[in-house]
Amino acid sequence: MRKIKQKVNADCPSYEIRSDQMAVDECPSRKESDTDVIIVGAGVAGAALAHTLGKDGQRVHVIERDLTEPDRIVGELLQPGGYLKLIELGLEDCIERIDAQHVLGYALFKDGRSTRLSYPLEKFHSDVAGRSFHNGRFIQRMREKAASLPNVRLEQGTVTSLLEDNGTIKGVQYKTKTGEQLKSYAPLTIVCDGCFSNLRRSLCSPKVDSPSCFVGLVLENCQLPFPNHGHVILADPSPILFYPISGTEIRCLVDIPGKKLPSIADGEMANYLKTVVAPQVPPQLHDAFISAIDKGNIRTMPNRSMPAAPHPTPGALLMGDAFNMRHPLTGGGMTVALSDIVVLRDLLKPLRNLNDAESLCKYLESFYTLRKPVASTINTLAGALYKVFCASSDQARMEMREACFDYLSLGGVCSNGPIALLSGLNPQPLSLVLHFFAVAVYGVGRLLTPFPSPKRLWIGARLILGASSIIFPIIKAEGVRQMFFPATVPACYRAPPQE
Ligand SMILES: Cc1cc2nc3c(=O)[nH]c(=O)nc-3n(C[C@H](O)[C@H](O)[C@H](O)COP(=O)(O)OP(=O)(O)OC[C@H]3O[C@@H](n4cnc5c(N)ncnc54)[C@H](O)[C@@H]3O)c2cc1C
Repeated sequence: MRKIKQKVNADCPSYEIRSDQMAVDECPSRKESDTDVIIVGAGVAGAALAHTLGKDGQRVHVIERDLTEPDRIVGELLQPGGYLKLIELGLEDCIERIDAQHVLGYALFKDGRSTRLSYPLEKFHSDVAGRSFHNGRFIQRMREKAASLPNVRLEQGTVTSLLEDNGTIKGVQYKTKTGEQLKSYAPLTIVCDGCFSNLRRSLCSPKVDSPSCFVGLVLENCQLPFPNHGHVILADPSPILFYPISGTEIRCLVDIPGKKLPSIADGEMANYLKTVVAPQVPPQLHDAFISAIDKGNIRTMPNRSMPAAPHPTPGALLMGDAFNMRHPLTGGGMTVALSDIVVLRDLLKPLRNLNDAESLCKYLESFYTLRKPVASTINTLAGALYKVFCASSDQARMEMREACFDYLSLGGVCSNGPIALLSGLNPQPLSLVLHFFAVAVYGVGRLLTPFPSPKRLWIGARLILGASSIIFPIIKAEGVRQMFFPATVPACYRAPPQE
Protein backbone atom coordinates (compact mmCIF):
# COMPACT_ATOMS: atom_id res chain seq x y z
CA MET A 1 0.00 0.00 0.00
CA ARG A 2 1.29 3.45 -0.93
CA LYS A 3 1.61 5.84 1.99
CA ILE A 4 2.62 9.36 1.14
CA LYS A 5 3.72 11.83 3.75
CA GLN A 6 3.68 15.38 2.50
CA LYS A 7 4.15 18.58 4.41
CA VAL A 8 1.27 20.81 3.36
CA ASN A 9 1.49 24.51 4.16
CA ALA A 10 2.97 23.92 7.55
CA ASP A 11 4.47 27.42 7.71
CA CYS A 12 1.26 29.45 7.87
CA PRO A 13 0.95 32.17 10.52
CA SER A 14 -0.76 31.84 13.86
CA TYR A 15 -4.14 30.13 14.33
CA GLU A 16 -6.85 30.58 16.84
CA ILE A 17 -7.66 27.18 18.32
CA ARG A 18 -11.20 26.15 19.31
CA SER A 19 -12.35 22.73 20.42
CA ASP A 20 -12.87 21.00 17.09
CA GLN A 21 -12.38 23.87 14.73
CA MET A 22 -9.67 26.44 14.06
CA ALA A 23 -9.86 29.89 12.53
CA VAL A 24 -7.37 30.19 9.70
CA ASP A 25 -5.72 33.51 8.87
CA GLU A 26 -5.23 34.38 5.25
CA CYS A 27 -2.44 32.10 4.16
CA PRO A 28 -1.17 32.72 0.60
CA SER A 29 0.32 29.29 0.05
CA ARG A 30 -3.10 27.79 0.72
CA LYS A 31 -4.30 28.97 -2.69
CA GLU A 32 -1.71 26.72 -4.30
CA SER A 33 -3.25 23.65 -2.69
CA ASP A 34 -2.80 20.63 -4.90
CA THR A 35 -5.83 18.92 -3.39
CA ASP A 36 -9.50 19.08 -4.38
CA VAL A 37 -10.91 16.98 -1.56
CA ILE A 38 -9.59 16.05 1.88
CA ILE A 39 -11.14 12.92 3.37
CA VAL A 40 -10.82 12.36 7.11
CA GLY A 41 -10.86 8.65 7.94
CA ALA A 42 -10.38 5.67 5.63
CA GLY A 43 -12.92 3.27 7.09
CA VAL A 44 -15.79 1.90 5.03
CA ALA A 45 -17.07 5.34 3.92
CA GLY A 46 -13.74 7.17 3.60
CA ALA A 47 -11.93 4.44 1.66
CA ALA A 48 -14.84 3.87 -0.75
CA LEU A 49 -15.26 7.63 -1.23
CA ALA A 50 -11.53 8.16 -1.86
CA HIS A 51 -11.54 5.63 -4.68
CA THR A 52 -14.79 6.96 -6.12
CA LEU A 53 -13.72 10.61 -6.24
CA GLY A 54 -10.18 9.71 -7.29
CA LYS A 55 -11.54 7.67 -10.20
CA ASP A 56 -13.57 10.72 -11.25
CA GLY A 57 -10.39 12.76 -11.49
CA GLN A 58 -10.46 14.65 -8.17
CA ARG A 59 -7.14 15.05 -6.36
CA VAL A 60 -7.82 13.44 -3.03
CA HIS A 61 -5.85 13.57 0.22
CA VAL A 62 -7.00 10.91 2.70
CA ILE A 63 -5.84 11.16 6.31
CA GLU A 64 -6.43 8.01 8.36
CA ARG A 65 -5.51 7.56 12.01
CA ASP A 66 -4.34 3.96 11.65
CA LEU A 67 -3.51 2.32 8.34
CA THR A 68 -2.96 -1.16 9.78
CA GLU A 69 -5.72 -3.72 9.23
CA PRO A 70 -8.60 -2.98 11.63
CA ASP A 71 -9.74 -5.82 13.88
CA ARG A 72 -13.32 -4.97 14.80
CA ILE A 73 -16.72 -6.56 15.36
CA VAL A 74 -18.54 -3.98 13.16
CA GLY A 75 -19.42 -3.88 9.46
CA GLU A 76 -19.13 -7.59 8.75
CA LEU A 77 -22.36 -8.25 6.84
CA LEU A 78 -23.02 -6.31 3.66
CA GLN A 79 -26.65 -6.51 2.53
CA PRO A 80 -27.32 -7.31 -1.16
CA GLY A 81 -28.48 -3.70 -1.66
CA GLY A 82 -25.04 -2.62 -0.44
CA TYR A 83 -23.37 -5.11 -2.76
CA LEU A 84 -25.25 -3.51 -5.69
CA LYS A 85 -23.89 -0.12 -4.60
CA LEU A 86 -20.40 -1.62 -4.42
CA ILE A 87 -20.82 -2.71 -8.06
CA GLU A 88 -22.05 0.79 -9.01
CA LEU A 89 -18.88 2.19 -7.47
CA GLY A 90 -16.65 -0.37 -9.22
CA LEU A 91 -15.46 -1.77 -5.87
CA GLU A 92 -16.93 -5.26 -6.01
CA ASP A 93 -13.48 -6.82 -6.36
CA CYS A 94 -12.75 -5.63 -2.80
CA ILE A 95 -14.74 -8.56 -1.44
CA GLU A 96 -12.75 -11.04 -3.52
CA ARG A 97 -9.87 -13.02 -2.00
CA ILE A 98 -10.90 -12.17 1.58
CA ASP A 99 -12.79 -15.44 2.18
CA ALA A 100 -16.10 -13.52 2.07
CA GLN A 101 -19.20 -15.70 2.38
CA HIS A 102 -22.40 -15.43 0.34
CA VAL A 103 -25.44 -14.53 2.44
CA LEU A 104 -28.77 -15.57 0.94
CA GLY A 105 -31.19 -14.39 3.61
CA TYR A 106 -32.04 -14.67 7.29
CA ALA A 107 -33.31 -17.34 9.63
CA LEU A 108 -35.43 -16.21 12.54
CA PHE A 109 -35.70 -18.19 15.79
CA LYS A 110 -38.27 -17.81 18.55
CA ASP A 111 -39.11 -20.21 21.41
CA GLY A 112 -37.66 -23.23 19.58
CA ARG A 113 -39.40 -22.41 16.27
CA SER A 114 -37.57 -21.15 13.18
CA THR A 115 -38.45 -19.60 9.85
CA ARG A 116 -36.33 -18.84 6.80
CA LEU A 117 -36.53 -15.50 4.99
CA SER A 118 -34.73 -15.59 1.65
CA TYR A 119 -33.63 -12.41 -0.09
CA PRO A 120 -35.74 -11.86 -3.22
CA LEU A 121 -32.80 -12.21 -5.60
CA GLU A 122 -34.59 -13.86 -8.55
CA LYS A 123 -34.47 -10.73 -10.73
CA PHE A 124 -30.75 -10.16 -10.20
CA HIS A 125 -27.54 -11.60 -11.64
CA SER A 126 -26.58 -14.86 -9.89
CA ASP A 127 -23.63 -13.14 -8.20
CA VAL A 128 -25.88 -10.69 -6.33
CA ALA A 129 -26.33 -11.69 -2.67
CA GLY A 130 -25.27 -10.43 0.72
CA ARG A 131 -21.62 -10.86 1.71
CA SER A 132 -20.08 -11.37 5.11
CA PHE A 133 -16.40 -11.06 5.90
CA HIS A 134 -13.76 -9.73 8.27
CA ASN A 135 -14.36 -5.97 8.24
CA GLY A 136 -10.63 -5.19 8.38
CA ARG A 137 -9.86 -7.29 5.29
CA PHE A 138 -12.58 -5.47 3.30
CA ILE A 139 -11.35 -2.04 4.40
CA GLN A 140 -7.75 -2.91 3.60
CA ARG A 141 -8.74 -3.96 0.06
CA MET A 142 -10.60 -0.67 -0.47
CA ARG A 143 -7.69 1.36 0.92
CA GLU A 144 -5.26 -0.43 -1.40
CA LYS A 145 -7.50 0.15 -4.38
CA ALA A 146 -7.92 3.85 -3.58
CA ALA A 147 -4.18 4.31 -2.98
CA SER A 148 -3.37 2.69 -6.34
CA LEU A 149 -4.82 5.76 -8.10
CA PRO A 150 -2.10 8.35 -8.87
CA ASN A 151 -4.31 11.26 -7.72
CA VAL A 152 -5.14 9.75 -4.31
CA ARG A 153 -2.73 10.35 -1.39
CA LEU A 154 -3.32 8.10 1.59
CA GLU A 155 -1.49 9.24 4.68
CA GLN A 156 -1.44 8.05 8.27
CA GLY A 157 -2.32 10.88 10.65
CA THR A 158 -4.89 11.96 13.22
CA VAL A 159 -6.95 14.99 12.29
CA THR A 160 -7.23 17.21 15.35
CA SER A 161 -9.31 20.09 14.01
CA LEU A 162 -10.96 21.64 11.02
CA LEU A 163 -9.50 24.90 9.70
CA GLU A 164 -12.14 27.55 9.42
CA ASP A 165 -12.15 30.99 7.84
CA ASN A 166 -15.27 33.15 8.10
CA GLY A 167 -17.60 30.19 8.39
CA THR A 168 -15.98 28.25 5.55
CA ILE A 169 -13.93 25.11 6.20
CA LYS A 170 -10.62 25.42 4.41
CA GLY A 171 -8.90 22.21 5.45
CA VAL A 172 -7.65 20.31 8.47
CA GLN A 173 -4.89 20.26 11.04
CA TYR A 174 -3.47 16.83 11.76
CA LYS A 175 -0.75 15.04 13.65
CA THR A 176 1.43 12.60 11.77
CA LYS A 177 2.63 9.24 13.03
CA THR A 178 5.88 10.89 14.17
CA GLY A 179 3.99 13.57 16.12
CA GLU A 180 4.48 16.38 13.60
CA GLN A 181 1.59 18.91 13.39
CA LEU A 182 0.68 19.60 9.76
CA LYS A 183 -2.10 21.36 7.87
CA SER A 184 -3.75 20.43 4.65
CA TYR A 185 -6.02 22.67 2.55
CA ALA A 186 -8.68 21.87 -0.03
CA PRO A 187 -11.93 23.41 -1.29
CA LEU A 188 -13.89 20.48 0.16
CA THR A 189 -13.25 18.46 3.34
CA ILE A 190 -15.33 15.32 3.83
CA VAL A 191 -15.36 14.06 7.40
CA CYS A 192 -15.76 10.26 7.65
CA ASP A 193 -14.29 9.68 11.10
CA GLY A 194 -16.89 7.14 12.20
CA CYS A 195 -19.32 6.67 15.07
CA PHE A 196 -17.08 8.30 17.71
CA SER A 197 -16.45 11.35 15.51
CA ASN A 198 -14.75 14.25 17.28
CA LEU A 199 -15.07 16.55 14.31
CA ARG A 200 -18.80 16.44 13.58
CA ARG A 201 -19.92 18.82 16.36
CA SER A 202 -19.80 21.98 14.27
CA LEU A 203 -21.20 20.28 11.15
CA CYS A 204 -24.37 18.74 12.61
CA SER A 205 -26.51 18.48 15.74
CA PRO A 206 -25.41 15.09 17.05
CA LYS A 207 -28.28 13.57 19.03
CA VAL A 208 -26.77 10.18 19.75
CA ASP A 209 -28.90 7.49 21.37
CA SER A 210 -27.22 4.37 22.72
CA PRO A 211 -29.95 1.84 23.52
CA SER A 212 -27.70 -1.21 23.90
CA CYS A 213 -24.30 -2.79 23.31
CA PHE A 214 -23.23 -5.75 21.20
CA VAL A 215 -20.96 -8.34 22.75
CA GLY A 216 -18.97 -10.12 20.05
CA LEU A 217 -17.57 -13.67 19.99
CA VAL A 218 -16.16 -15.83 17.19
CA LEU A 219 -17.44 -19.44 17.01
CA GLU A 220 -15.31 -22.08 15.35
CA ASN A 221 -15.79 -25.72 14.31
CA CYS A 222 -19.56 -25.58 13.97
CA GLN A 223 -22.25 -25.32 11.30
CA LEU A 224 -25.05 -22.80 11.22
CA PRO A 225 -28.52 -24.41 11.19
CA PHE A 226 -29.15 -22.52 7.92
CA PRO A 227 -25.82 -22.26 6.06
CA ASN A 228 -25.18 -18.93 4.29
CA HIS A 229 -27.88 -17.18 6.28
CA GLY A 230 -27.83 -14.55 9.00
CA HIS A 231 -29.47 -15.92 12.15
CA VAL A 232 -31.56 -13.76 14.49
CA ILE A 233 -32.68 -15.28 17.80
CA LEU A 234 -35.59 -13.40 19.41
CA ALA A 235 -34.13 -13.93 22.85
CA ASP A 236 -34.81 -12.50 26.26
CA PRO A 237 -33.99 -9.69 26.96
CA SER A 238 -32.96 -8.86 23.39
CA PRO A 239 -31.76 -10.38 20.09
CA ILE A 240 -28.71 -12.57 19.43
CA LEU A 241 -27.17 -12.67 15.93
CA PHE A 242 -25.02 -15.27 14.15
CA TYR A 243 -23.52 -15.08 10.67
CA PRO A 244 -20.43 -16.48 8.97
CA ILE A 245 -17.41 -14.15 8.57
CA SER A 246 -15.14 -16.66 6.82
CA GLY A 247 -15.22 -20.27 5.69
CA THR A 248 -14.48 -21.42 9.25
CA GLU A 249 -15.67 -18.68 11.60
CA ILE A 250 -19.11 -17.57 12.75
CA ARG A 251 -19.65 -14.16 14.32
CA CYS A 252 -21.98 -14.06 17.29
CA LEU A 253 -23.30 -10.69 18.48
CA VAL A 254 -25.26 -10.68 21.72
CA ASP A 255 -27.32 -7.55 22.34
CA ILE A 256 -27.32 -6.30 25.93
CA PRO A 257 -29.77 -3.45 26.58
CA GLY A 258 -28.54 -0.33 28.36
CA LYS A 259 -25.11 1.24 28.57
CA LYS A 260 -23.68 -0.70 31.48
CA LEU A 261 -22.20 -4.10 30.67
CA PRO A 262 -21.24 -6.94 33.00
CA SER A 263 -17.50 -6.70 33.63
CA ILE A 264 -15.31 -8.82 31.36
CA ALA A 265 -12.30 -8.57 33.67
CA ASP A 266 -13.93 -10.09 36.75
CA GLY A 267 -15.80 -12.82 34.85
CA GLU A 268 -19.31 -11.34 35.20
CA MET A 269 -19.67 -11.19 31.43
CA ALA A 270 -18.67 -14.86 30.91
CA ASN A 271 -21.10 -15.81 33.65
CA TYR A 272 -23.93 -13.77 32.04
CA LEU A 273 -23.24 -15.31 28.63
CA LYS A 274 -23.21 -18.84 30.04
CA THR A 275 -26.23 -18.59 32.31
CA VAL A 276 -28.58 -16.15 30.50
CA VAL A 277 -27.61 -16.34 26.83
CA ALA A 278 -26.32 -19.90 26.21
CA PRO A 279 -29.67 -21.60 27.07
CA GLN A 280 -31.29 -19.54 24.29
CA VAL A 281 -28.68 -20.37 21.62
CA PRO A 282 -29.74 -22.99 18.99
CA PRO A 283 -28.48 -26.43 20.14
CA GLN A 284 -26.25 -26.82 17.03
CA LEU A 285 -24.22 -23.79 18.15
CA HIS A 286 -24.30 -24.29 21.92
CA ASP A 287 -20.94 -26.06 22.44
CA ALA A 288 -19.07 -23.72 20.10
CA PHE A 289 -20.66 -20.78 21.92
CA ILE A 290 -19.39 -22.04 25.30
CA SER A 291 -15.92 -22.72 23.83
CA ALA A 292 -15.80 -19.17 22.44
CA ILE A 293 -16.58 -17.76 25.90
CA ASP A 294 -13.92 -19.97 27.50
CA LYS A 295 -11.39 -18.86 24.89
CA GLY A 296 -11.85 -15.39 26.31
CA ASN A 297 -11.76 -13.11 23.29
CA ILE A 298 -14.93 -11.20 24.21
CA ARG A 299 -15.34 -7.84 22.46
CA THR A 300 -17.93 -5.14 23.00
CA MET A 301 -19.23 -2.17 21.05
CA PRO A 302 -21.97 0.37 21.86
CA ASN A 303 -24.92 0.32 19.48
CA ARG A 304 -25.61 3.90 18.57
CA SER A 305 -28.22 5.62 16.51
CA MET A 306 -28.22 9.21 15.33
CA PRO A 307 -30.54 10.75 12.75
CA ALA A 308 -28.84 12.94 10.16
CA ALA A 309 -29.16 16.57 11.27
CA PRO A 310 -26.59 18.47 9.22
CA HIS A 311 -25.65 22.16 9.47
CA PRO A 312 -24.77 22.75 5.82
CA THR A 313 -21.31 24.36 6.04
CA PRO A 314 -19.34 25.75 3.10
CA GLY A 315 -16.24 23.66 2.45
CA ALA A 316 -17.28 20.61 4.48
CA LEU A 317 -19.53 17.55 4.43
CA LEU A 318 -20.11 14.63 6.78
CA MET A 319 -20.45 11.04 5.56
CA GLY A 320 -20.77 7.56 7.04
CA ASP A 321 -21.40 7.00 10.76
CA ALA A 322 -20.10 10.47 11.60
CA PHE A 323 -23.18 11.76 9.78
CA ASN A 324 -25.90 9.20 10.45
CA MET A 325 -26.19 5.98 12.49
CA ARG A 326 -28.85 3.35 13.10
CA HIS A 327 -29.05 0.27 15.34
CA PRO A 328 -26.79 -2.41 13.76
CA LEU A 329 -29.38 -5.20 14.24
CA THR A 330 -30.23 -5.19 10.51
CA GLY A 331 -26.66 -4.67 9.25
CA GLY A 332 -27.58 -1.56 7.28
CA GLY A 333 -24.75 0.89 8.05
CA MET A 334 -22.43 0.03 5.15
CA THR A 335 -25.35 -0.06 2.70
CA VAL A 336 -26.37 3.47 3.71
CA ALA A 337 -22.77 4.73 3.55
CA LEU A 338 -22.20 3.25 0.06
CA SER A 339 -25.57 4.50 -1.18
CA ASP A 340 -24.72 8.02 0.08
CA ILE A 341 -21.43 7.87 -1.81
CA VAL A 342 -23.27 7.04 -5.05
CA VAL A 343 -25.57 10.07 -4.51
CA LEU A 344 -22.64 12.40 -3.76
CA ARG A 345 -20.58 11.09 -6.69
CA ASP A 346 -23.45 11.80 -9.11
CA LEU A 347 -23.84 15.33 -7.72
CA LEU A 348 -20.11 16.12 -7.96
CA LYS A 349 -19.59 14.53 -11.39
CA PRO A 350 -20.61 17.55 -13.51
CA LEU A 351 -18.34 19.92 -11.56
CA ARG A 352 -14.88 20.74 -12.81
CA ASN A 353 -13.75 22.70 -9.78
CA LEU A 354 -15.03 22.93 -6.24
CA ASN A 355 -13.59 26.33 -5.36
CA ASP A 356 -16.82 28.32 -4.90
CA ALA A 357 -17.56 26.95 -1.43
CA GLU A 358 -20.79 28.95 -0.87
CA SER A 359 -22.41 27.88 -4.16
CA LEU A 360 -21.19 24.32 -3.75
CA CYS A 361 -22.71 24.16 -0.27
CA LYS A 362 -26.10 25.38 -1.54
CA TYR A 363 -26.00 22.90 -4.44
CA LEU A 364 -25.07 19.99 -2.16
CA GLU A 365 -28.10 20.60 0.07
CA SER A 366 -29.94 18.34 -2.39
CA PHE A 367 -27.76 15.48 -1.11
CA TYR A 368 -29.68 15.49 2.18
CA THR A 369 -32.97 14.80 0.43
CA LEU A 370 -31.78 12.59 -2.44
CA ARG A 371 -30.28 10.11 0.04
CA LYS A 372 -33.49 9.80 2.03
CA PRO A 373 -35.41 6.97 0.34
CA VAL A 374 -32.60 4.47 0.96
CA ALA A 375 -31.21 5.88 4.20
CA SER A 376 -34.49 6.60 5.99
CA THR A 377 -36.01 3.23 5.08
CA ILE A 378 -32.99 1.32 6.43
CA ASN A 379 -32.71 3.57 9.51
CA THR A 380 -36.39 3.38 10.40
CA LEU A 381 -36.57 -0.38 9.91
CA ALA A 382 -33.49 -0.92 12.12
CA GLY A 383 -34.85 1.23 14.95
CA ALA A 384 -38.38 -0.20 14.79
CA LEU A 385 -37.33 -3.84 14.44
CA TYR A 386 -34.95 -3.56 17.38
CA LYS A 387 -37.78 -2.36 19.61
CA VAL A 388 -40.19 -5.03 18.34
CA PHE A 389 -37.60 -7.81 18.74
CA CYS A 390 -36.78 -7.01 22.38
CA ALA A 391 -38.62 -8.87 25.13
CA SER A 392 -40.87 -6.75 27.34
CA SER A 393 -42.97 -6.98 30.47
CA ASP A 394 -45.80 -5.30 28.51
CA GLN A 395 -48.17 -7.93 27.12
CA ALA A 396 -49.10 -5.76 24.11
CA ARG A 397 -45.39 -5.49 23.14
CA MET A 398 -44.98 -9.27 23.49
CA GLU A 399 -48.04 -9.77 21.25
CA MET A 400 -46.42 -7.47 18.65
CA ARG A 401 -43.21 -9.52 18.78
CA GLU A 402 -45.12 -12.77 18.37
CA ALA A 403 -47.21 -11.27 15.55
CA CYS A 404 -44.04 -10.11 13.79
CA PHE A 405 -42.51 -13.60 13.89
CA ASP A 406 -45.75 -15.21 12.65
CA TYR A 407 -46.32 -12.55 9.95
CA LEU A 408 -42.81 -13.10 8.55
CA SER A 409 -43.40 -16.87 8.67
CA LEU A 410 -46.47 -16.53 6.41
CA GLY A 411 -44.19 -16.33 3.37
CA GLY A 412 -45.08 -14.67 0.06
CA VAL A 413 -45.41 -10.91 0.22
CA CYS A 414 -45.38 -10.99 4.05
CA SER A 415 -41.77 -12.19 4.12
CA ASN A 416 -40.55 -10.90 0.73
CA GLY A 417 -41.67 -7.32 1.41
CA PRO A 418 -39.89 -6.85 4.77
CA ILE A 419 -36.73 -8.74 3.74
CA ALA A 420 -36.53 -6.66 0.52
CA LEU A 421 -36.62 -3.55 2.72
CA LEU A 422 -34.00 -4.87 5.14
CA SER A 423 -31.66 -5.98 2.36
CA GLY A 424 -31.75 -2.57 0.67
CA LEU A 425 -33.12 -4.19 -2.52
CA ASN A 426 -36.40 -2.24 -2.35
CA PRO A 427 -35.87 0.71 -0.03
CA GLN A 428 -39.36 2.27 -0.13
CA PRO A 429 -40.52 4.14 2.99
CA LEU A 430 -44.21 3.64 2.18
CA SER A 431 -43.79 -0.12 1.87
CA LEU A 432 -42.07 -0.09 5.27
CA VAL A 433 -44.97 1.71 6.96
CA LEU A 434 -47.51 -0.58 5.29
CA HIS A 435 -45.75 -3.76 6.42
CA PHE A 436 -45.21 -2.39 9.92
CA PHE A 437 -48.90 -1.67 10.42
CA ALA A 438 -49.87 -4.89 8.65
CA VAL A 439 -47.97 -6.69 11.43
CA ALA A 440 -49.83 -4.67 14.07
CA VAL A 441 -53.23 -5.35 12.45
CA TYR A 442 -52.32 -9.04 12.10
CA GLY A 443 -51.48 -9.05 15.82
CA VAL A 444 -54.83 -7.48 16.71
CA GLY A 445 -56.64 -9.94 14.42
CA ARG A 446 -55.02 -12.86 16.25
CA LEU A 447 -56.05 -11.39 19.58
CA LEU A 448 -59.66 -10.98 18.55
CA THR A 449 -60.17 -14.43 17.02
CA PRO A 450 -62.02 -16.66 17.60
CA PHE A 451 -63.78 -14.63 20.34
CA PRO A 452 -62.90 -11.08 21.32
CA SER A 453 -63.03 -10.25 25.02
CA PRO A 454 -62.78 -6.78 26.60
CA LYS A 455 -59.30 -7.65 27.89
CA ARG A 456 -58.15 -8.76 24.44
CA LEU A 457 -59.68 -5.66 22.84
CA TRP A 458 -57.76 -3.53 25.31
CA ILE A 459 -54.47 -5.33 24.56
CA GLY A 460 -55.18 -4.92 20.83
CA ALA A 461 -55.70 -1.18 21.23
CA ARG A 462 -52.46 -0.91 23.21
CA LEU A 463 -50.67 -2.94 20.54
CA ILE A 464 -51.67 -0.41 17.85
CA LEU A 465 -50.75 2.49 20.13
CA GLY A 466 -47.43 0.83 20.98
CA ALA A 467 -46.67 0.23 17.28
CA SER A 468 -47.41 3.89 16.52
CA SER A 469 -45.24 5.07 19.40
CA ILE A 470 -42.36 2.98 18.02
CA ILE A 471 -42.44 4.05 14.38
CA PHE A 472 -43.71 7.64 14.34
CA PRO A 473 -40.92 9.21 16.45
CA ILE A 474 -38.32 7.54 14.19
CA ILE A 475 -40.07 8.84 11.07
CA LYS A 476 -40.33 12.32 12.61
CA ALA A 477 -36.60 12.33 13.30
CA GLU A 478 -35.91 11.23 9.71
CA GLY A 479 -38.12 14.04 8.34
CA VAL A 480 -41.61 13.21 7.05
CA ARG A 481 -41.40 15.40 3.96
CA GLN A 482 -37.93 14.30 2.91
CA MET A 483 -38.82 10.67 3.54
CA PHE A 484 -42.21 10.45 1.84
CA PHE A 485 -42.35 13.45 -0.50
CA PRO A 486 -38.75 14.15 -1.53
CA ALA A 487 -39.91 15.54 -4.87
CA THR A 488 -41.57 18.47 -3.05
CA VAL A 489 -38.27 19.62 -1.50
CA PRO A 490 -36.97 22.54 -3.61
CA ALA A 491 -33.30 21.77 -2.80
CA CYS A 492 -33.56 18.64 -4.98
CA TYR A 493 -33.69 20.77 -8.10
CA ARG A 494 -30.61 22.95 -7.52
CA ALA A 495 -28.48 23.28 -10.65
CA PRO A 496 -24.70 22.79 -10.37
CA PRO A 497 -22.88 26.10 -9.66
CA GLN A 498 -21.73 28.05 -12.75
CA GLU A 499 -18.01 27.62 -13.37
C1 LIG B 1 -21.53 -3.66 16.69
C2 LIG B 1 -21.77 -3.16 15.30
C3 LIG B 1 -21.97 -4.06 14.27
C4 LIG B 1 -22.21 -3.59 12.98
N1 LIG B 1 -22.45 -4.49 11.98
C5 LIG B 1 -22.73 -4.05 10.74
C6 LIG B 1 -23.00 -4.97 9.69
O1 LIG B 1 -22.98 -6.18 9.87
N2 LIG B 1 -23.29 -4.47 8.47
C7 LIG B 1 -23.31 -3.12 8.21
O2 LIG B 1 -23.58 -2.71 7.08
N3 LIG B 1 -23.02 -2.24 9.19
C8 LIG B 1 -22.74 -2.66 10.43
N4 LIG B 1 -22.44 -1.77 11.41
C9 LIG B 1 -22.32 -0.34 11.05
C10 LIG B 1 -21.01 -0.11 10.25
O3 LIG B 1 -19.93 -0.64 10.97
C11 LIG B 1 -20.80 1.37 10.00
O4 LIG B 1 -21.97 1.91 9.43
C12 LIG B 1 -19.62 1.64 9.08
O5 LIG B 1 -18.44 1.08 9.60
C13 LIG B 1 -19.47 3.14 8.89
O6 LIG B 1 -18.30 3.43 8.19
P1 LIG B 1 -17.48 4.76 8.50
O7 LIG B 1 -16.45 4.84 7.45
O8 LIG B 1 -18.40 5.89 8.70
O9 LIG B 1 -16.83 4.49 9.91
P2 LIG B 1 -15.61 3.53 10.23
O10 LIG B 1 -15.68 2.33 9.35
O11 LIG B 1 -15.64 3.33 11.70
O12 LIG B 1 -14.33 4.37 9.82
C14 LIG B 1 -13.92 5.54 10.50
C15 LIG B 1 -12.43 5.71 10.24
O13 LIG B 1 -12.03 7.00 10.65
C16 LIG B 1 -10.78 6.88 11.29
N5 LIG B 1 -10.65 8.05 12.18
C17 LIG B 1 -11.40 8.31 13.28
N6 LIG B 1 -11.04 9.50 13.80
C18 LIG B 1 -10.05 9.99 13.00
C19 LIG B 1 -9.27 11.18 13.03
N7 LIG B 1 -9.44 12.12 13.97
N8 LIG B 1 -8.33 11.37 12.06
C20 LIG B 1 -8.15 10.44 11.10
N9 LIG B 1 -8.86 9.29 11.03
C21 LIG B 1 -9.80 9.08 11.97
C22 LIG B 1 -10.84 5.56 12.02
O14 LIG B 1 -9.55 5.05 12.31
C23 LIG B 1 -11.60 4.71 11.01
O15 LIG B 1 -10.72 4.06 10.11
C24 LIG B 1 -22.21 -2.20 12.71
C25 LIG B 1 -22.00 -1.28 13.75
C26 LIG B 1 -21.79 -1.75 15.04
C27 LIG B 1 -21.59 -0.77 16.15
